[in-house]
This record gives sequence, structure tokens and C-alpha cells, in this order.
Amino acid sequence: MAMIRQMVIIVLALLMIGCAQVQTTKSGVVGIERKQSMSVLISSEAMEKAAHSSYSASLQEANKSGKLDVDKKQTGKLKVILDKMIPQVSVFKDEAVNWNWDVHVVKSDIVNATCAPGGKITFYSGILDRLKLEDAEIAAVMGHEISHALREHSRERMSEELVKRIGVSVVGAAAKVDTNKLDAVANLVISLPHSREHESEADVMGIELAARAGYDPRAAISVWKKMSALGGKQPLQFMSTHPAHETRIAELEKYMPKVLPLYEETVKQRPKPKGKRRAQPSRVAGLQ
Ligand SMILES: [Zn+2]
Repeated sequence: MAMIRQMVIIVLALLMIGCAQVQTTKSGVVGIERKQSMSVLISSEAMEKAAHSSYSASLQEANKSGKLDVDKKQTGKLKVILDKMIPQVSVFKDEAVNWNWDVHVVKSDIVNATCAPGGKITFYSGILDRLKLEDAEIAAVMGHEISHALREHSRERMSEELVKRIGVSVVGAAAKVDTNKLDAVANLVISLPHSREHESEADVMGIELAARAGYDPRAAISVWKKMSALGGKQPLQFMSTHPAHETRIAELEKYMPKVLPLYEETVKQRPKPKGKRRAQPSRVAGLQ
């Protein structure tokens, strides 16, 4: 009887949180189909608003300490790459084309990059300088981070956290057990597998975005190789949140046949350099 009462309390608590099964993006050629569980208490708009103010605050902070966009050429390069990526995001989310996109570089040894909800991108100079990233590799990292924002992974994680916290306190109170122990178990069961799912979605969506923007998607693999070569000397934040690079490389390779044709198509459509056009004697002869 007590067991049934506990179950009823848990179900009621979960209903209160109001999670809905949604699909936040379209599938693209890489085929993103997973339904996501989002709490109605946490809206996309609220996430974007919060992200916007914390982004502005962190840029101000970096500016005050002389760490914002120190290398103007580097920031300019990132803006050029972002401008090519933005039109591609509609393949996953139409409205994201109209987001107020922004990218800045913060001077720091940290090997990491982020994209907050609503398209606010930060690159730490560590990832650019220490990995000596080429343009296509920057596009791979940017595509990965943009994809987390398109899939609203942070809203999903917050929804999970809400369910977990309420669940843990309700179960803990009902069963009279240590909630810290329950929390650790809930973390393992709920948080970790999902974060791996998030990473793999961001990986495959990222290479599709980069390929469509005209960057060789194979550069994503070289980013991971560079990361693993660098690993061990200093703590790499990117790697602590982005685990097991061998499996990721294998997964990325699996998706290459799907995204390489997109890249090859953009290469074909590129205007040929002027020098090459002159080397067509037959056309010149025809004009005479
Ligand atoms: Zn990630």
C-alpha cells in the first residue's frame, strides 16, 4: 500500500513538471530523429533571454580585463566562417536563420568553444592557437557548438535536471533514504547517457552544417586527432565534456558518405579563379 502511495506521489510530481515530447529540429541528411523531453516550465524564449544577458556580461568582463577579441584578424576570420554557416542552419531549424548570431574570441588557454541558446558563440583563443585550427577545422568546431544550440540541448538538460531533482526529493522523502545517494544514481541513469547522445547529435549535425557551408567535413576528424595528441598535458575542458574521441572519430567516418556529397556540390558551384578561365583557348577562338 505504501509502495502504491509513493508511486502516485512520483507520478503527480512528474505531471506537475509537465514534460512534453517534442522534436526541436528537422532531421537533415544525417537523420536526426530523436524525440526530446522538454519541461513546459522552461521555454526556449526564457533560455535565449538568459543566455543573451550572461553572454553580454561575460563579454564585458573579458573586455574589462583586456581579453576580448585581442587578435582582430582572428575574430574577423570567425565572423566570415559564421556568415557562411548561418544560412545553412535552416536545414535543421528554419527560425534559427533569424537568430541574433554573434561570435567573439576570449583570450584564454582553455581549449574550448561554446554556443549559447539563440546563437551566441564564444571561442577561447586556446582552441584556435594550441590546436592551430585551419578554417575547415574551425567550421567543424563551430558547427558542433551551433548544433547544441539548434537542438536546445541545454533546455533539455535543464528539463532533465528539474525532473531529477523533484524526483529525488519526492522518492527520498517517501522512502526515507539519503537523497545524496539517490542523486548520484539518478545522475548516472539520466544525465550521462543523454550527454553522450547530445554529443553525437552535435557531431553529425555539425559536419552537415560545415559541408553545406563549403568546408570539408573531414576536418572534424582532424580536430579530434589534434585534441587527442594534445591531451594529458593540461586539463582540456572541451574533452571533459566531450568524451571518448576514438568512438567519435569512428562515428564521424560512418556519416562522411552522407555529408561529403553536400561539400562536393558547394565546391562545384564555386566560381573558378580568373586565371583558369583564361586557359580556355577554344572559347577565346570562338569569340574572334
Ligand atoms: Zn559538444
